[in-house]
Amino acid sequence: IVRIRGLKKSFGEHIVLNGIDFDVAPSQVVVVIGPSGSGKSTFLRCCNGLEQPEGGTVDICGHRLVDHGVMLKERPLNALRTEVGMVFQSFNLFPHLSVLDNITLGPRKLRGASKDEAAAAAMALLEKVGLAQKAHAMPASLSGGQKQRVAIARSLAMRPRVMLFDEPTSALDPELVGEVLQVMKMLAGDGMTMVVVTHEMGFAKEVADVVVVMDGGAIVEAGPPQTIFSAPTQPRTRAFLQAVL
Ligand code: ATP
Ligand code: MG
Repeated sequence: IVRIRGLKKSFGEHIVLNGIDFDVAPSQVVVVIGPSGSGKSTFLRCCNGLEQPEGGTVDICGHRLVDHGVMLKERPLNALRTEVGMVFQSFNLFPHLSVLDNITLGPRKLRGASKDEAAAAAMALLEKVGLAQKAHAMPASLSGGQKQRVAIARSLAMRPRVMLFDEPTSALDPELVGEVLQVMKMLAGDGMTMVVVTHEMGFAKEVADVVVVMDGGAIVEAGPPQTIFSAPTQPRTRAFLQAVL
């Protein structure tokens, strides 16, 4: 469902992604780890067209997003963005809209859903993330963990085929991390295809099918969590794990 070859991205002289090859099969959970500045966020942003790479090919959800460094035009790009959901570290909810309206906005504007249809789907998603009782609350009245669960529900409302998560729990107080990871674990259990950048090694061990280690704009090592955490072959993986575990 995702196939990336030779992805390259620089900011000025600074090479941030230096020829990334990356595959995700349907229903796979791929966790991306690596030191700060290694290019993880830039990589995710290249997967849904938020960043324009200079080189490489990105196929995602049946679209050729990037063809030898040339990006898709605006209209198909918008279609693709409804199929690729993204959740960020900062929740980015619309502060002036209720929880329910935050979730129904996308389906109503971009997928032509009716108000009732969108509201019913949103309620089902809120139920799923354990926040049905907050449907009419404003974002400012929610905890960080609740905001992030709403952000996940909002993203799911577009019925994406792949979900990208960029450090979804990094901005949360420690006691709120678990409730968000729990929702992500449930999604993985439902068969959602997910690419997750995270520093939560417990989540990686428990939920990932594949762990990818990035350093210096390259994939250093990739494999099942047992291998990466217990028997890493690359010195840079060992150094990173030593620093975080
Ligand atoms: P972190 O773990 O801190 O989130 P990361 O692995 O996500 O790091 P990126 O955010 O992808 O790393 O950044 C990789 C490199 O690219 C960094 O050196 C960063 O300074 C640089 N960079 C990222 N975005 C830009 C930008 N818009 N303009 C210039 N440089 C950028
Ligand atoms: Mg980042």
